[in-house]
Amino acid sequence: TGLMNRDAILRQLDTRLADPATNRVALLYIDLDRFKIVNDILGHSAGDELLVAAARRMREAVANEGLIARFGGDEFVVVCAFDDDPHRPERLARHVQHAFAESFRVLTDDFSVTTSIGIARAPADGETSQQLIQSADMAMYASKRRRRNGFQAFSPELASRQQERLQAETQLRRALDNGEFHLVYQPQVDLRSGRILYAEALVRWHNPQLGEMRPDRFIDLAETTGDIIRIGNWVLHEACAQMRRWREQDLPIQRVAVNVSYRQFTGDNLGESVGKALADAGLPGHALELELTERVLVDDTPDTLLVFDQLRALGVQLSIDDFGEGYSALNYLRRLPIHALKLSQSFLKGVPGKPSDVAICQAVAGIAQSLGLGIVAEGVESEAQRDFLLRLGVNVGQGYLFAPGLLPGEFAKRVTAQQDTA
Ligand code: C2E
Ligand code: MG
Ligand code: MG
Repeated sequence: TGLMNRDAILRQLDTRLADPATNRVALLYIDLDRFKIVNDILGHSAGDELLVAAARRMREAVANEGLIARFGGDEFVVVCAFDDDPHRPERLARHVQHAFAESFRVLTDDFSVTTSIGIARAPADGETSQQLIQSADMAMYASKRRRRNGFQAFSPELASRQQERLQAETQLRRALDNGEFHLVYQPQVDLRSGRILYAEALVRWHNPQLGEMRPDRFIDLAETTGDIIRIGNWVLHEACAQMRRWREQDLPIQRVAVNVSYRQFTGDNLGESVGKALADAGLPGHALELELTERVLVDDTPDTLLVFDQLRALGVQLSIDDFGEGYSALNYLRRLPIHALKLSQSFLKGVPGKPSDVAICQAVAGIAQSLGLGIVAEGVESEAQRDFLLRLGVNVGQGYLFAPGLLPGEFAKRVTAQQDTA
């Protein structure tokens, strides 16, 4: 690549850090996002060719504003001063990302490669080269987790979040065996009458050390560690068992929806697990709905299609959660046996005041209607939103206007109460 190597840049960095006159330097830790795929598909010599081209683009982007080195396989480091220009590190990060906007031609194919970048500044984020690299690396991973092709500067909050993450990871591993999970059920109602039709199971984690952990704080983590497969399987069994108990009490709850992680699709035999959960509870397939995220559909592999076939054979309902938030690939809707879309609460938030949110809700409802799919609105908090949805032709929804997630007994009580008034 013609760039400095790891040892050379570390020597330079150590020298600068040792001298109070030059120790205010920033380090950019740059990781190529999809490089390993290219390397695997095309082989090493094409991979090397790509690295050389990537190095050239980085060198042009950084120009004479910093030192640049190849740090490891597909990792690069830039060191720059920021005393004279406090925003230089962020600006260089943007330049580098801009330089990767155009795809790379390798052999006869075009490959798009993006970068994830972490930034750390000495001496605040690290006084030694090792600390500084560690901080930048941590920021890079935080950025990659959020989305590819981004950059992120290190901060003390990031470090404490990382600390919390590590702690949570340890606790999460034992949580299932310690019986720390339970499910709550949010009513999905007929928006006109408010009558409860279905339930969505939402997992709750109570840990003695960490307290109440909401799913948005641990599902991600469980997906990264792989724990989600066991947890998800427990959720499936527990929700089916609960549905069975409600049926035994003659409660008219038509089905229970369970959120399924993309990892359960690829990492486990989901068809088999679902079949077993239904059989153990003695439930027909139509008493269960699985909420999938778009990620499952976009990453689809031959295995994914096989799982869809199995699920279809079991007769379970399938819906797409948070529709429109993830990837805007629509063609899978034609190919896969999907029954319904869930209109994401992030779009409903601005309704009816914000024209762009209104437009998105209309578009999603239009897609569902014209493809003959069902639609469920989530995050319905106000009468105005309910009215808006009804005018759009969306008749089923869930949200705090009706109820949050409820313990099974409370859920049953509400269903019984509506039976009494009927
Ligand atoms: P989701 O499936 O889209 O679930 C809806 C989330 O919105 C729930 O948060 C629910 O409590 C919340 N919510 C309901 N009504 C309202 C409302 O009117 N306003 C607002 N602002 N929020 C409302 P929760 O329970 O924290 O779950 C968050 C996410 O975690 C879920 O989003 C789902 O993606 C994931 N999740 C929950 N349980 C499981 C599970 O068992 N397995 C997997 N893989 N993911 C789960
Ligand atoms: Mg859901
Ligand atoms: Mg949702």
